[in-house]
Amino acid sequence: MTLDIQRAGTIDQQSLFHPFTAITDLMADGPTIMATGKGVRITDIHGQEYLDGMAGLWCVNLGYGREEISAAMDAQSRRLSFFHAFNGMSIDVAVECAEELLKRAPVPMSRVFFGASGSDGNETQAKLIWYYNQLRGKPEKKKLICRWNSYHGSAVLTASMTGLPGMHSPFLLPMGPIVHTSAPYYYRKAPEGMSEREFSRHLAKELEELIEREGADTIGAFFAEAVMGAGGLIPPPEGYFEEIVPILRRHDILLVMDEVVSGYGRLGTYWGAQMYNVEPDLITSAKGVTSGYFPMSACFISPKVWDVIESNAAAAGLFGHGFTYSAHPVGAAAALASLRLIDEENILANVQQQSDYLFAQMRAAIGDHRAVGDIRGKGLMVGIELVKDRATKETLPMADRTGRQVLKAAAARGLITRALGDTLVFAPPLVINRAEVDELVDKFAAAVNDVL
Ligand code: PLP
Repeated sequence: MTLDIQRAGTIDQQSLFHPFTAITDLMADGPTIMATGKGVRITDIHGQEYLDGMAGLWCVNLGYGREEISAAMDAQSRRLSFFHAFNGMSIDVAVECAEELLKRAPVPMSRVFFGASGSDGNETQAKLIWYYNQLRGKPEKKKLICRWNSYHGSAVLTASMTGLPGMHSPFLLPMGPIVHTSAPYYYRKAPEGMSEREFSRHLAKELEELIEREGADTIGAFFAEAVMGAGGLIPPPEGYFEEIVPILRRHDILLVMDEVVSGYGRLGTYWGAQMYNVEPDLITSAKGVTSGYFPMSACFISPKVWDVIESNAAAAGLFGHGFTYSAHPVGAAAALASLRLIDEENILANVQQQSDYLFAQMRAAIGDHRAVGDIRGKGLMVGIELVKDRATKETLPMADRTGRQVLKAAAARGLITRALGDTLVFAPPLVINRAEVDELVDKFAAAVNDVL
């Protein structure tokens, strides 16, 4: 490494165009440049240490510096650094990885399709849905229902699917095949006095009306994160999936679970589908599949979809889709090592334990704070929505700015959180222990008190 540490911030500002960054904020504050990581901690180039309350971007589930994963990647890159799976070629380690993934699927699945990101995973699903309906003689079933506040990626189609208007403008996105329905955002959107269950029924009714309005014969699939992440950390209200899945089945609409964040243990079950007892037709996974050590996505295809594809194979010809890095051997090696560690270290049990403790401690520390409107989440996904007035739920006047101030106060105390507008979120590495949870809560409570 030859980077001039003293000038690194300036060099960054002059050379790196940052994703999802307001240039004015970057110019005002300068970047925070990370250098090393171990366990749940990362250290910046100036030696300041942080507890990473976000596992990078909801992905470093097994923590930083895991020798088991880097050794597997190192060995694989020496053995065979790259080959591909186009035109019937394959790679031994990718074959093994696909088999291991299928063993861990929440419901029987027939095939895995690999890519390099959550965005490309959801793009693959969209194409699969179109391909499947084309092959079974229903080519008009093309539309995809997604939800406001959802996040499905930032490629052109997946940005359209994402239910965050800030990601739609000013880009020329193909909104044609996308229809949005309401987010299951109980705290903000449920009418006064309505129970969670009633709100779920209300959303189901809205969904069915939308399907009838659009015409079920034009709709291919419904996409859902188990717990919404980037759109404000929104867990579904009680009975949500129970209410909506029968509607999808009745109208012959595929259910795609976007488990890019929730997969591989984040909720305390291996999959969000298991937490909410749903049987998806397609699952998108990424991030935790390699614990963030390698960019990789894995899309699961159910027998219902696969059988149509396979039985029409002769007529269908080539599936004209794929990425150079689909089934990358180093990614497959990282995934195999990660999957093994999730089992061997009993990660799910740790998530369940630490989740209960984290929510209890967070509620005890700031549950009564005048600016804390809602503490919500599931497993190790936690959201704290800040408000101006708890009683009326009035929003903060400059929510983005306040969220950012809390984020900065936390960073000054050595804690990384993420501000999604007025909701501060945590998704720490799944290996976090009790003492680290205490530290996370103490530092965060202090940061909230610093600002509000
Ligand atoms: N889907 C969900 C639920 C996500 O949270 C994300 C990213 O955070 C994506 C898809 C997109 O993944 P990527 O950023 O790897 O393209």
